Amino acid sequence: MTVNTAADEKAYGELKEKIAAVEERIASACARAGRERESVRLVAASKLNSAERVALARMAGVRIFGENRVQELCEKRERGAYENAEVHLIGHLQKNKVKYVAGQVALIESVDSPELLAALNAFCEKNGTRQDVLIELNLDGEASKTGLPRSALEPLLEEAGNFSCVTVKGLMAIPPKCDNSAKNRDYFARMHELFVDIGRKKYDNVKMAELSMGMSADFEDAILEGATLIRVGTALFGARDYGTVGCL
Ligand SMILES: *Cc1c(COP(=O)(O)O)cnc(C)c1O
Repeated sequence: MTVNTAADEKAYGELKEKIAAVEERIASACARAGRERESVRLVAASKLNSAERVALARMAGVRIFGENRVQELCEKRERGAYENAEVHLIGHLQKNKVKYVAGQVALIESVDSPELLAALNAFCEKNGTRQDVLIELNLDGEASKTGLPRSALEPLLEEAGNFSCVTVKGLMAIPPKCDNSAKNRDYFARMHELFVDIGRKKYDNVKMAELSMGMSADFEDAILEGATLIRVGTALFGARDYGTVGCL
């Protein structure tokens, strides 16, 4: 996809500035946490931003994009928005849409059921491909939220041993209190504890390498609590038109 940065000079400049500001926040959180900057990767949550805007962000330095909706991801991908970038699916995936993303994105961060994991593996097996995934957890079992209930995690990880074409690479979380970073920090800490615990247990086909948590309002806290992937939308792209999507 070719983007005319001269024509989009203003938008490009703004993205550059926002990326620099987010970078500064990441660097300072890493310094406070005593972590290497390289231990945290920035995923730009680009939902509701056009293919052109995504391509501009890539030119401005973004290396990983996270999309929520499969259809939106496919449309932007067809237009070449993600050339030379990595794409993660970070929103809910329905089993009937597995074919649009499995083996075609670097990471599916939002696997939230054993059935979905099985469907991904079956598709990959049939098509000679493979897929890395994270398990999206719903630690407190909030009914309004997506994510696998805590009690279902170990059974799913046991089952993952049977799936040779998918690898569980870690955990993802969306804390319930999108607007309350103090409470989120506690949630992040509990996620990290679980992440470390599971890592020690050594399930087949499971490598606890990535912990995806933290958004625009609270990614410093997530970094302090051990996030390896942060998913940042608003701080990079400005406010979205939320519509009925709630705090996401
Ligand atoms: C939109 C979204 C984000 C980013 O949220 P911001 O508050 O805009 O940074 C992170 N994770 C998921 C799953 C999202 O849908």
